[in-house]
Amino acid sequence: MARIDEIRLRLLQRWPEPGIELIFSNAYQLLVATILAAQCTDERVNRVTPQFFALYPTAAHLSRASLSDIEEQIRSTGFFHNKAKALLACCQQLVEHHQGEVPATVEELSALPGVGRKTASVVVANAYGVPAIAVDTHVKRVSERLALSSARQADMVEADLKKLLPESHWIDFTQLLTLHGRYTCQARKPACNACVVADLCDSIDKNK
Ligand code: SF4
Repeated sequence: MARIDEIRLRLLQRWPEPGIELIFSNAYQLLVATILAAQCTDERVNRVTPQFFALYPTAAHLSRASLSDIEEQIRSTGFFHNKAKALLACCQQLVEHHQGEVPATVEELSALPGVGRKTASVVVANAYGVPAIAVDTHVKRVSERLALSSARQADMVEADLKKLLPESHWIDFTQLLTLHGRYTCQARKPACNACVVADLCDSIDKNK
């Protein structure tokens, strides 16, 4: 069995249903939640979004909001001024160019203001089931420690992982690396003693 398949199976045993931790019920909600999750925990975002979506249930509603009202609602997620500007500009573009709907391709999504390739990949994968690999800080760090990619740029890590895995595993593997990075292979103090892939990891000694 290829090493990456062994890693995937072990992580799947640890997290049998590797779902995203942001709570959403459609692509618009996931897009908003993912923008809010930058430099913030999913848990905090999940506390903010129920009231936010009650006030702004669609991109069209949000596109008509004032910047200061949006800021007030998302203040606790941090960087609220930039996030509010991004949300407003993004929803205005959705209304103007996409009939208020969230497109289902990484290319179209990442052309929207405030939406990077990682956010676009999260949305297409988790809202539409389109195979994609979203490289965030956890995916990048764990990929490097497990010698799956030594690339420095996120889009190169994405390309390396895509070469190693069939499309059918892109979404769950992204989520497995995210969970592993969040709860076990943390940046400062990875829990190597509790790691299910420790015997497959050459970084274990460096991180003991
Ligand atoms: S052994 Fe340590 S460094 Fe390697 S993947 Fe596991 S937690 Fe991360």
